[in-house]
Amino acid sequence: MSNDKLPSRNENYSEWYNQLVQKAELADYAPVRGCMVVRPYGWALWENIQAGLDRRFKETGHVNAAFPLLIPMSFLEKEKKHVEGFSPELAVVTIGGGEKLEEPLIVRPTSETIIGYMYAKWIKSYRDLPVLINQWGNVVRWEMRTRLFLRTLEFYWQEGHTAHATSQEAEEETLRMLDVYTDFAVSDAAVPVVRGLKSEREKFAGAVRSYSIEAMMGDTRALQAGTSHFLGQNFAKAFDIQFLNWNNDLQHVWTTSWGLSTRFVGAIIMTHGDDQGLIMPPKLAPTQVVIVPIYKSEEEYSRVMEVVKKVTAELKDFRLHVDDRSEVTPGFKFNDWEMRGVPLRIEIGPKDVDKGTVAFARRDMPGRAGKSFVPQTQLAAQVGDMLALIQKSIYEQALTFREDNTYDPKDYAELIEVMKKGWALSWWCESDACEAKVKEDSKATTRCIPLDQPDGEGKCIVCGQNASKKVYFSRAY
Ligand SMILES: [Zn+2]
Repeated sequence: MSNDKLPSRNENYSEWYNQLVQKAELADYAPVRGCMVVRPYGWALWENIQAGLDRRFKETGHVNAAFPLLIPMSFLEKEKKHVEGFSPELAVVTIGGGEKLEEPLIVRPTSETIIGYMYAKWIKSYRDLPVLINQWGNVVRWEMRTRLFLRTLEFYWQEGHTAHATSQEAEEETLRMLDVYTDFAVSDAAVPVVRGLKSEREKFAGAVRSYSIEAMMGDTRALQAGTSHFLGQNFAKAFDIQFLNWNNDLQHVWTTSWGLSTRFVGAIIMTHGDDQGLIMPPKLAPTQVVIVPIYKSEEEYSRVMEVVKKVTAELKDFRLHVDDRSEVTPGFKFNDWEMRGVPLRIEIGPKDVDKGTVAFARRDMPGRAGKSFVPQTQLAAQVGDMLALIQKSIYEQALTFREDNTYDPKDYAELIEVMKKGWALSWWCESDACEAKVKEDSKATTRCIPLDQPDGEGKCIVCGQNASKKVYFSRAY
């Protein structure tokens, strides 16, 4: 617990982020380089993210299951692109029970292969389809450059894996889950996202097509916040997942996979945070409301606490915390809860007791502008309205920020220039060469070809050839 200030977000964004994650007690560094310990406050946020997603998965017909952490090495080798993509990041187990293993095992980097193997056993006929399974778990990818939540060796996520009788059904599922992620990001996390198709270069190893939601962080870089992949029959053929159709013909299934991870915690921090600390979206905030009683004497204390008790009872449906610590000042408490991003603070002092009011202080609006005095009557309704207002207002602020920092450069030189300060939405001929050139000249990559495209055609911002699609370019996490 400390009241130290953070580095300024504008001056040193990266240090601001690193210190915030630790000072708000979201996560800490583990003894193994690149691993992360998620602390209770960070895990509580993740649990709320899980709940928001899990409800949506179930509403769209999915069920949860659990598959093993260890996968035979040979499984990965069955899909050529998949093994190429993941080999450099693998953690391999070669000794078990003190003996060298006959076949090395990998710690799962993702579970397409083991799930594909099981689906081949379970799926026999069209009556077994579709299979709509999600798994909540952890995976390991041996990353070289790591940052808490954004890129760690081990991370937590969900991975959905579905199998379908037709290509069209699998495509529909892929886009349905992209929409589920979009709805969650926008409605629950107040994070504006663009939905789109990844380029061939940026797609998932083994996918036919990958889609993503991309969000702009507070330093204008992009963060891929969730992905959904149409895997075609690549894994079905590699693992021989076949079914008998209506006409008794043996056919390969069509599969999808989709995932969202603890990276999303990083997205929330970097979309909404400010120099005072986190700003939690009310719908996901582990603590939505903190009550700080204010008193100077024992007499005041007992009068104030009586009202605090009454208010607490009335607000029982909110995630509420009463900070009645007597060893620190109210000012210390304010800073402390601002650091943790609690959306609404309610102050109750002797004057409020006399007047029958309480003071609201909005986390998203520092200082006097965010302060108001409200009557103690119908407090639950007032708190509900205020949290909804904060939820809406931080979304709009983030959306305005993205719009203000998205450019339409007129030529290649300007594209490279704007890559230092934001996103560009530009015509692109979809060639790998043009994409590679942008990366070499600016470190920016294509983020996604947005599903919502403008009418007409244009000229590729890089080579000048005809282009039918616009793409987002940006530096990314
Ligand atoms: Zn081009």
